[in-house]
Amino acid sequence: MKYTSTRNKQISISGIEAIVQGISPDGGLYVPCDFPVLTKKDIAKLIEMDYPERAAYIMNLYLDEFTYDELLEITKKAYSTFDGDPCPLLSIDEYLNVLELWHGPTCAFKDMALTVLPYLLTISKRKLGLDEKTVILVATSGDTGKAALEGFKDVDGVDVIVFYPDKGVSAMQKLQMQTQEGKNVFVAAIDGNFDDAQTAVKNVFVDEKVKARLKDMGYALSSANSINWGRLLPQICYYVSAFCDLLSSGEIEERETFNVCVPTGNFGNILACYYAKKMGIPVDKLICASNDNKILTDFLNTGVYDTHREFHKTISPSMDILISSNLERLLFEILDRDDLATKELMTELKRDGVYKIDKKLLRKKVPFLLAGYATEEETEDCISAASDVYDYIMDPHTAVAYSVTMDYISETRDEKQMVIVSTASPFKFPVVVQRAINATNENDELKALKDLSFWTGEEIPPQIAKLEKSERRFTKVIDKNQVEQCMFEYLGERNGR
Ligand SMILES: *Cc1c(COP(=O)(O)O)cnc(C)c1O
Repeated sequence: MKYTSTRNKQISISGIEAIVQGISPDGGLYVPCDFPVLTKKDIAKLIEMDYPERAAYIMNLYLDEFTYDELLEITKKAYSTFDGDPCPLLSIDEYLNVLELWHGPTCAFKDMALTVLPYLLTISKRKLGLDEKTVILVATSGDTGKAALEGFKDVDGVDVIVFYPDKGVSAMQKLQMQTQEGKNVFVAAIDGNFDDAQTAVKNVFVDEKVKARLKDMGYALSSANSINWGRLLPQICYYVSAFCDLLSSGEIEERETFNVCVPTGNFGNILACYYAKKMGIPVDKLICASNDNKILTDFLNTGVYDTHREFHKTISPSMDILISSNLERLLFEILDRDDLATKELMTELKRDGVYKIDKKLLRKKVPFLLAGYATEEETEDCISAASDVYDYIMDPHTAVAYSVTMDYISETRDEKQMVIVSTASPFKFPVVVQRAINATNENDELKALKDLSFWTGEEIPPQIAKLEKSERRFTKVIDKNQVEQCMFEYLGERNGR
């Protein structure tokens, strides 16, 4: 399988090169040149497999440079860090299913890919004969940062540097990052929002002078954000796996379709489902759920992507994003893989903060892609309703998807099986969840955590319980134009200069 760039189709590289580079030098994102289609035989095999086997099988279709056995070794190791089944599909009602993706080391869905990526990256480097060290530079809206730190901590030949928006993450997310262990990690807060952090990091990535200076120090840059193909690929696997689970539990029959609703920020998770659909997984409606930062909902309903709007800080902070990187990959497909047209739109976005495509084109190319959003109040009401009606406790991100799902069902009366993608453990957002289900006003995250555990009768996940007693190693706040300087200072110290 070859990969090309969304901004330059002359490029043709291998999957392992795409993973090592993270982003194309032209600023574009790597995409596979075509999508393997799963046959009935493939599905029959996949149904019999456990999750690590399924993931290895699917990733193998995209990465010829690895053998199935190599990939299986990776997925087995990666998913052994999870508490039980990595992605259980729970049926909570006749037509409602929840795909829980947060049983990993940091209690958010980012673990599904970020436990795998370190292996993909280090082995890809070895296969390419590269002996340089790697700096992983991450901008995070809260969950990617911690998952990347945890995934890459103490991995030889790799350093991880994470920037998060100082006032844009939850107290728990901040605590998780500030207390990160490992000798190859660095974390700083940026005085700004997530888009500031992501733009600052992206600028470093395309700066040739930075690259040259890093090269002198024996480093190459890479990314653990969902612009990296090595992030998206493991995410495709759980949609295929959910389909297998729906089939084997009898929730759907062969040739029956189902719907999926994804709480969306950077458009990575939902894009992976779109790719799974391209592989033949019978997803009927794919629903993009936003919070008050509903730029994607507006775009999918109007064709206009306009960043000139207020940025809202919400109770689902991992979706507080106005510039959704991965949308570029969807645009590339909508535009029939026209690299120049894609590049033009991205130039407009950078220059004017807005671009527009024909609404009819959207309807024609992605008629199945729907979008809705939930306000803060609706989100909290849904946490409460799901708790009352189904005795199911969901985190605020999942509740956004639940709310949009309920709107869709009451509007359409669609009775297809629906998969709501659940992206974080409720224990990661205890203040909000407690307020919603028990109407308490406890604003201290650690206290709310204990209350939530008491009221639900569920144990606090140990990786969250231990935070209270962990040392805060990283408390620096920097200006958004100090990202580069900060990176070099850290690397200088690491290398004894
Ligand atoms: C990252 C994240 C999202 C958004 O996922 P994208 O791939 O950025 O669209 C949703 N919920 C949680 C809990 C997350 O951490």
